[in-house]
Amino acid sequence: MQNKLNSIVKPLLMGPGPSCVSDSVYQALAKPTLGHLDPEFIALMDDIKSYIRKLIQTENQLTVPISGTGSAGMETCFVNLVEPEDRVLVLINGVFGVRMEDVATRLGAEVDSLKFEWGTPVILDSVREQLAQKKYDLVAVVHAETSTGVCNPVAEIGKLVKNNGALYLVDCVTSMGGIEVEMDEWQIDALYSGTQKCLSCPPGLSPVSFSDRAVGKLTNRKTKVPNWYLDLSMITQYWSGNARVYHHTAPINMLYGLYQACYSILEEGLENVIQRHKDMHELLVSELKTLGLELFVEESARLPMLNAIKIPSGVDDANVRGKLINDYRIEIGGGLGPLAGKIWRIGLMGETAKKESIQKLMDAFRKILN
Ligand code: PLP
Repeated sequence: MQNKLNSIVKPLLMGPGPSCVSDSVYQALAKPTLGHLDPEFIALMDDIKSYIRKLIQTENQLTVPISGTGSAGMETCFVNLVEPEDRVLVLINGVFGVRMEDVATRLGAEVDSLKFEWGTPVILDSVREQLAQKKYDLVAVVHAETSTGVCNPVAEIGKLVKNNGALYLVDCVTSMGGIEVEMDEWQIDALYSGTQKCLSCPPGLSPVSFSDRAVGKLTNRKTKVPNWYLDLSMITQYWSGNARVYHHTAPINMLYGLYQACYSILEEGLENVIQRHKDMHELLVSELKTLGLELFVEESARLPMLNAIKIPSGVDDANVRGKLINDYRIEIGGGLGPLAGKIWRIGLMGETAKKESIQKLMDAFRKILN
């Protein structure tokens, strides 16, 4: 028998996620598995909650990692906060806004969407106008739109949503740990993230946080949460209090990984980590210029951790990405939906956001594109 795991060679992950994982996180994942009610593990869970709170700058008690990827976090927020016939507004300028609309629609909500051109940010005046016309129960937006490389003006949207009275839900899958996320300051009521982007952990967990207002909505629901696995009123009985109640068997070793990933960011200092992402983004942009490659998003709306690059005319997208992965073990992302074949997505997330990664990619690009 041949064990296929033996032939895996570590790639340089420079796509939209997963990102590179540090040795300290790999070592954490390999620690002995504890029981999910072991007091030592419960102490670790409490630290994980407080580390997540620090990274998204919140005091919210209800802050837990959901067992599942970022989409499970998205689904958790919607199934807990939306009831049939609730009025939901989704601001869409990429794939993940479209996914939110789909999730909300499946819950029987009355869903409106405001659509913006992919590659450009949400326009505040349009949001203001829409919110002046109609009262909503929930407004949802993606902070860092991984499909396009756009950063949406989440703080400013928060002020508009507050005036409307709706709950404010923000996707921070790609932003957490890479750019500022100020949950309380920006008046965000529900937020979810993912482990495989700037936290530099393998995929599998989704940090979620609810404000007191969001918890109020959950506790005063007229209908039961329509999803057993993601029902936060039950999950929180395992994640808080003196007597922990079994809900589902926590993915113990994945949580070790998340613990270490958050620990490493806090040890480096969140501000320093954010600055490193900015610096590496600037370095990448200046290097790309030397090859005549241009960015897809205007400077003021660019994300540092997800760089969308226009594919020059006459260059074969699949051929270049194929060479990068097969000859150089470097992964970058292609465009999604209407942007397929038009852009490359270069991730500088967490562990990947280092000079060495950029140098390796540029060396490979020079050889392939010349
Ligand atoms: N939201 C955003 C902004 C994302 O980038 C992603 C994944 O790329 C998701 C949600 C979904 O996360 P996952 O693929 O981990 O389920």
